[in-house]
Amino acid sequence: MAAAPRSTPPDVPACDVAIPAALRTRARAIERRLRRAQPDPKVELDHADAWQLLVATILAARSNDRTINKITPTLHARWPTPAALARAPQAAVEAVVKPSGFFRTKAQALRRTAAAVVADFGGQVPRTMAELCTLPGVGRKTANVLIASGFGEGGGIIVDLHVTRLVARLGLVHDDDAVRIEALMCAVLPPRHWALAGHRMVLHGRHVCTARKPRCSRCPLAELCPSAAQAPAGRWTERAAWEQVVTESRGQVDPTAG
Ligand code: SF4
Repeated sequence: MAAAPRSTPPDVPACDVAIPAALRTRARAIERRLRRAQPDPKVELDHADAWQLLVATILAARSNDRTINKITPTLHARWPTPAALARAPQAAVEAVVKPSGFFRTKAQALRRTAAAVVADFGGQVPRTMAELCTLPGVGRKTANVLIASGFGEGGGIIVDLHVTRLVARLGLVHDDDAVRIEALMCAVLPPRHWALAGHRMVLHGRHVCTARKPRCSRCPLAELCPSAAQAPAGRWTERAAWEQVVTESRGQVDPTAG
């Protein structure tokens, strides 16, 4: 029997579809396995505080974290505070962020966001979903990244392209609307797991369930996944241990390679 949609805290989009009990059970089993595979997931954008993570997350749109991690040290050294970045000339910021792609738009978004942080929040990055989403260039995904990384409160589940692809392959949600995906995932998972479940799904999508070549035989979710293309190797706990090494090394170490 389908369970009725449940009420959600105000910062999380409401789910207006009935969720079959079997789907809820499977989603929770998936989340438990990902928790085993990634006990302490961390965002892969280097940062020292909320402002640096906000900058890096805006820059990371349609780019990759490795590229952004090469850009941000220079950016933060030249303009270390929101006030400094708000005053920076557009052309100078563009030159620094150029390798991230879409550099004109991103430079403008960074300067406008910096100006808003100064004007509206006294130079401090706000902590709530509602306040974060008033900043130019900040939507639910960016706000959820900050909140899930410990710089805020009241968020839901991060949904990016990795998560969108992963939940579709897992047969949990087939949708291209990030808010509807977040609403459904928040409806099936307990709130205490929302923040890290998002981080874990992002990292699983980045390092295991990759867009072009998902590593199904190594995936700890294989028995729970209708899209598994290969038979799983060994026990799921062994595959979870493999995923832990891969994700904690940011994809640099693969215990099965060589
Ligand atoms: S079994 Fe394959 S398709 Fe399914 S989640 Fe794992 S890597 Fe992705």
